[in-house]
Amino acid sequence: MESWDVAVVGGGHAGCEAALAAARMGMKTILFAIQLDSVAMMPCNPNIGGASKGHIVREIDALGGQMGKNIDKTFLQSRMLNVSKGPAVHSLRAQADKFRYAREMKKTLEQTANLTIRQSEIYALQTESSQDNGSVTGVVSESGAFYACKTVILCAGTYLKARCLYGETILNSGPAGFRASRALSESLQSMGITLLRFKTGTSARVHKNTIDFSRMERQNGDEPPVPFSFETDPAALRRKQLPCYLTYTNEDTHKIIRENLCRSPMYSGVIKAAGARYCPSIEDKVVRFADKKRHQVFLEPEGEDTAEMYVAGMSTSLPEDVQEAIYRTLPGMENCRIMRNGYAIEYDCIDAAQLKLSLEFKRWSGLFSAGQQNGSSGYEEAAAQGLAAGINAARFVQGKPPLIIDRSEGYIGVLIDDLTVKGTNEPYRMMTSRAEYRLLLRQDNADARLMPKGYEMGLISSKRYDDFLLKMRQIETEISRVRKMILPPSEAFNKFLAEHASPPIDSGAAMPEMIKRPELSYDLLRGFDPDRPGLPAPAGEQVNLQLKYEGYIRRQMMQVEQFKKLESRLLPMDIDYSSITGLRLEARSKLDKLRPVSLGQASRVPGVTPADISVLLIYLAAHG
Ligand SMILES: Cc1cc2nc3c(=O)[nH]c(=O)nc-3n(C[C@H](O)[C@H](O)[C@H](O)COP(=O)(O)OP(=O)(O)OC[C@H]3O[C@@H](n4cnc5c(N)ncnc54)[C@H](O)[C@@H]3O)c2cc1C
Repeated sequence: MESWDVAVVGGGHAGCEAALAAARMGMKTILFAIQLDSVAMMPCNPNIGGASKGHIVREIDALGGQMGKNIDKTFLQSRMLNVSKGPAVHSLRAQADKFRYAREMKKTLEQTANLTIRQSEIYALQTESSQDNGSVTGVVSESGAFYACKTVILCAGTYLKARCLYGETILNSGPAGFRASRALSESLQSMGITLLRFKTGTSARVHKNTIDFSRMERQNGDEPPVPFSFETDPAALRRKQLPCYLTYTNEDTHKIIRENLCRSPMYSGVIKAAGARYCPSIEDKVVRFADKKRHQVFLEPEGEDTAEMYVAGMSTSLPEDVQEAIYRTLPGMENCRIMRNGYAIEYDCIDAAQLKLSLEFKRWSGLFSAGQQNGSSGYEEAAAQGLAAGINAARFVQGKPPLIIDRSEGYIGVLIDDLTVKGTNEPYRMMTSRAEYRLLLRQDNADARLMPKGYEMGLISSKRYDDFLLKMRQIETEISRVRKMILPPSEAFNKFLAEHASPPIDSGAAMPEMIKRPELSYDLLRGFDPDRPGLPAPAGEQVNLQLKYEGYIRRQMMQVEQFKKLESRLLPMDIDYSSITGLRLEARSKLDKLRPVSLGQASRVPGVTPADISVLLIYLAAHG
């Protein structure tokens, strides 16, 4: 019987990254999807990136993942967001041609060695040893076929027992009419795996020829666009970008919604599942922000060869007739034709507190889980988990320790730590505010933070790694050169300073101090630095950022040292928390259930207080 190293259940954003990582690390890998046409599909907003999500895409790229390259090949419009704010929140966001994005990713899967992709629904997992812990040995498909495998990565997304709802219409289907996953939930529950019921939703799609864009604000992409992948040549990005458009809801929109709230399954009580606070439907916005006169709505092209436009900000599960009515209240949409209704989708997902930081189940050896199925929401969050699970399934087969990225090393670390340590009771969406060390976790330095790990995993080629090391050397050499530079006072220089509303100098000024001035930068000062080497733009940007924010970065590095100290204080896995007097009851039961691996993790368990951590510290000191 044929046997596989890694079986990936799901061809979404998580499944694709998981399968590619495992296959590229030499694992004999098979990917299953209920329908291969759903591979890398974007059932919701046709864009990749944005605040914190752009950071994640860069981190995926630095580790050797595919999403960054795939969007660089298939974007319709690209913009750098938050450029008026600090570098920690600068975020790249690209509108994707979602059909080309999916085709391009499927092509990459099909052309990857060691990887087989198969259209088949997995009905059950095969395991050995006792009731609710042991190891996974294979998967059983809809046809009853058994696939023996050493590891399984579950990436079933929004398909487990999915049902789609709008108004009184209820369809037992996955997103966008794709078939739902009908049997896998039971198999997981029979293994003692706890499932939760979550919900998300999307907006209607309208025909672009029925929209009057002259009544809206046009938004163009940046010229030149910036790549997501550190490996993409910026020149390869040149193309004609498509615009997006901004319009607004108004009192008419809000009135119709208020009058029909009882017909929305979210408000009629038909949907009981937990929805995402940070991705509210238009109904939620009208109810929760009743004082707001209008809400922004963006018209975004779904692809170059389609008339479908995504209506961002108008996600809804109201009945068809109401959707028609509310969309036509928006300026420019008075005659719009809906091509696909908006809807809400309910689905099973697992409680991620059952997973280790490697995304392996604590009780099922060789079984991993990634993506929306872990309670997260978003293509980027799913892809990041898929990559981590793919790497760790391969490491499991290789008998090597898993790759763990901690909260000070990447948003991927924050994401997985939050999901597995804190758990979530609603779809978890990444935000910069979740990352305590966000000044260090910028999108521009993801390669410096993570590419050495990607190289160690065998996912970054030697050529690419050499280019990376050269860039790091260039930055280091240039920073030490600039540190020694003194800019002499001169009429020309003080004239330049005056032009930039910067105070004049009357004696030699250290170049780093000048760069630190908010109105100046390494790039702006090039005219007064004749010996400056011609660095590529990304390297120059690093010189600027590392010198400009030196003080803040140093302070955050000191906080990271404290963090790492607590992370390195490991907790025995067999510790009897109920016997530790001084620990509060809530802390005892939470710690016993979650079994954190370190004092740092224990301090992040909801319900565990700093006082409990002090008690644990004393206990550890006494018990060595
Ligand atoms: C209607 C809707 C609205 C959304 N709105 C938002 C939003 O507003 N903001 C946001 O951030 N995210 C949103 N999302 C979430 C976003 O789509 C997901 O985060 C992302 O697609 C998750 O990727 P994934 O790989 O985990 O799963 P998915 O992309 O859902 O892919 C799952 C894959 O698993 C396969 N599969 C499932 N079960 C089986 C089985 N038993 N056997 C074989 N294959 C199986 C499917 O065929 C599919 O290929 C929305 C999703 C939907 C459906």
